[in-house]
Amino acid sequence: MHNKSFDRDYRQFAPQDTQVPDSGLVRVEDDRTGMSEQSLKRAIVDNLHYGQGKDNYFATPYDYYMAIARSMRDRLIKRRIQTARTHIQEDSKVVYYLSAEFLMGRYTGNSLINLGIYERVRKVLRESGLELDDLLEKEHEPGLGNGGLGRLAACYLDSLATLEIPAVGYGIRYEFGIFEQEIRNGWQAERPDKWLSFGNAWEVSLPEYRTEVKFGGHTESYTDTKGRYQTNWIPEHTVFGIPYDTPIPGYGVNTVNILRLWKAESSNEFDLDAFNAGDYLGAVANKMFSENISKVLYPNDDTVQGKELRLEQQYFFVSCSLQDIIRRHIYHYNSLDNLHEKSAIQLNDTHPSIGIAELMRLLIDVHQMDWEQAWHITQNCFAYTNHTLLPEALERWSVNLFGRLLPRHLEIIYEINFRFLSEVRKRYPGDNERIARLSLIEGEGADKKVRMANLACVGSRKINGVAALHTKLLQQDVLRDFYELAPEKFINKTNGVTPRRWLLLGNPRLSNLITEKIGEAWITNLDELRKLEQFADDPQFRQTWREIKQANKQDLAAYIERKNHIQVDTNSLFDVQVKRLHEYKRQLLNVLHIITLYNRIKRNPNEDILPRTFIFGGKAAPGYFIAKLIIKLINSVAAVVNDDPSLEGRLKVAFLSNYNVSMSQQIYAAAELSEQISTAGKEASGTGNMKFALNGALTIGTLDGANVEIREEVGAENFFLCGLTTPEVYELKAKGYNPQEYYQSNSELQEVIRLIACGHFSDGDSQLFRPLLDSLLYNDKYMLFADYQSYIDTQDRVSQAYRQEDNWTRMSILNTARMGKFSSDRAISEYCKEIWHVEPVPVEFKEYSPEDMNLKVSKVHW
Ligand SMILES: *Cc1c(COP(=O)(O)O)cnc(C)c1O
Repeated sequence: MHNKSFDRDYRQFAPQDTQVPDSGLVRVEDDRTGMSEQSLKRAIVDNLHYGQGKDNYFATPYDYYMAIARSMRDRLIKRRIQTARTHIQEDSKVVYYLSAEFLMGRYTGNSLINLGIYERVRKVLRESGLELDDLLEKEHEPGLGNGGLGRLAACYLDSLATLEIPAVGYGIRYEFGIFEQEIRNGWQAERPDKWLSFGNAWEVSLPEYRTEVKFGGHTESYTDTKGRYQTNWIPEHTVFGIPYDTPIPGYGVNTVNILRLWKAESSNEFDLDAFNAGDYLGAVANKMFSENISKVLYPNDDTVQGKELRLEQQYFFVSCSLQDIIRRHIYHYNSLDNLHEKSAIQLNDTHPSIGIAELMRLLIDVHQMDWEQAWHITQNCFAYTNHTLLPEALERWSVNLFGRLLPRHLEIIYEINFRFLSEVRKRYPGDNERIARLSLIEGEGADKKVRMANLACVGSRKINGVAALHTKLLQQDVLRDFYELAPEKFINKTNGVTPRRWLLLGNPRLSNLITEKIGEAWITNLDELRKLEQFADDPQFRQTWREIKQANKQDLAAYIERKNHIQVDTNSLFDVQVKRLHEYKRQLLNVLHIITLYNRIKRNPNEDILPRTFIFGGKAAPGYFIAKLIIKLINSVAAVVNDDPSLEGRLKVAFLSNYNVSMSQQIYAAAELSEQISTAGKEASGTGNMKFALNGALTIGTLDGANVEIREEVGAENFFLCGLTTPEVYELKAKGYNPQEYYQSNSELQEVIRLIACGHFSDGDSQLFRPLLDSLLYNDKYMLFADYQSYIDTQDRVSQAYRQEDNWTRMSILNTARMGKFSSDRAISEYCKEIWHVEPVPVEFKEYSPEDMNLKVSKVHW
């Protein structure tokens, strides 16, 4: 076991130009994964020929993209093999990150960056007249997530590999990821995301490691020959999970971990009968039924629908993953007694929390362990990350559905609950209300539900929130009973984002300037950015800083012109709100501000208004009517504002369709004002807020989620604070919030609402936006009216500040300089030390050697 701490200095990087000693059998030119310009070029040509079946007479840009991707994959696989060997040889403890979503973004650019050969490959291609950046855009982004939660999982995989932690990401290989959003006549329309239709150069399938998963049926109990009580689950049908691995490289290290995603395939056992009876089509129909499980990602962010297929997906990938972990563990240790000493399993929200019952089932029913030992191991394997404060996002499954799909798990959950509540009763005798709140089962009779958050809390050793405020609110509110029961389980882990994708890859101009000034240590130690503070008052540096933002704005302006046919003024303030469309995130409050400015100009054409370009992006869940109506409103306001000659050079509004990771990289780099205006107490953390500030945008925001900590880090004077605080929100709610009180006393707000109501943005249709207005005027669940004036006043301060160009640039530099805390490397090293208890395992780079030429068959499992 290595006893290295997180000291980064011991790292041995693979040499960039590997000089392979002539070993007799293997010569330099035989190494197809070398890093010299010559080897890289040769690899691309080889992969063009033998991977794509093309030569330069036939090759399209897509062929070149595929050849580059395969060339990078070859290099990563070489390091992956060495990584896996090292982890096995060192008996390493492994982190298993279970997540129903991984929003990875494009792989190829990131691999070039993490291998440290981006510039080199660009040069090689440029010598032939090809532009790397254009070719990389041919990659169809794998959109296997909705938003922040899936993107967090992706940033964490990058940091785990960079910190040389043995880790596997486990999830679902959805055939259709998050839908593609189109805007038609101002409305969102959804199209299926056929991300696999052009092939995926990045994955490797491992059909030999396929895993069987049971569904439905019933259980039978009996006493075995040793007098032990046993339960047998006789399923109604079974499905196979086929693993697909994608290599996850660390930055500047030889560690390459994997993301293992499961695809559902039919197991033919259950359709044999139909087949034998000559019902060929019936057998095929059953096959399609099984394969539906990994067909499509549920496009809801922060809400649950309680659909059967969703529970099937969750159980499917969790069961495959746990069986995979156990298969490897038994091969290696020949026993499961030390499973918890060698595995840390993280539950990314409650989506994989069925894993607690599944591990119990595997240990007890399949591996014959007794309950107490199995429970001890289970509780010490799992830790649970909570991601939300919204009640509609807490997963609860009807006991009926649960029992039909997973009869054995329901029995196990009842048993866990029985034992757990007995303990609770001992501690709080007679406190029946508390017992009812803590129970894993909610309600009575036909409406009974399984509470997945409660299962996750009971079955985990640690429970974490994702920002300091969020963790505090979990302790005081959402999970208060669990906190009182076991305060030592609760811990905060403020989210972070990877500096590799979100600065080095996404903003090359700024990265180059930073590296020029302070060296490149910031890439793996983001606190180094503090060294930029010394240049915040340097006029020359400020000038360069501004020029870079200007160049990024020009790129984004060109994109907006290409996509939306809107010409934006690159000297205007780029005021950006990109994130999932949700009422609590309050895109509507931003719109109220736009209309306020519009009214001011209409009232007084000479009003001195700071020119602004308002940029929006984000998808709404397809069934979320109000969110879709907000998109329509944004586009309707855009149509009126952008077409009005009297607003030329003053206001522009652009809604960018199909917001995704690739687009967001470009947007963060060009943004100047970051809108983070959720109702206080609703956004668990946010990570968009971190990516913006890292790229030098200033934040206008409420004291919500990680905004609180961002403000602490950058300094209150470099942050535009607005709105009620969480205690004020709670207080107002308690005394009875009435939006009318705010409305009746605010003439500017009245003007805004009336303009929407009279159909000014809807061709005179006064009904179109009625649902939005009614919800504001008579309910206003997210308190937009309560925060309206504060938001407008703060925006006015933003306008004044932007005019002080030098000071704005200074604040921008200081924002970037003080973002060290929000690196996912910091977050992951805290998880490693305080939750998972794992250590880095450095991996050495190994050249081909004569040993590799010794062809033999192995039984080693990975
Ligand atoms: C960072 C990111 C998010 C999360 O954004 P928030 O503002 O924190 O909600 C969502 N989607 C994409 C594509 C992202 O890159």
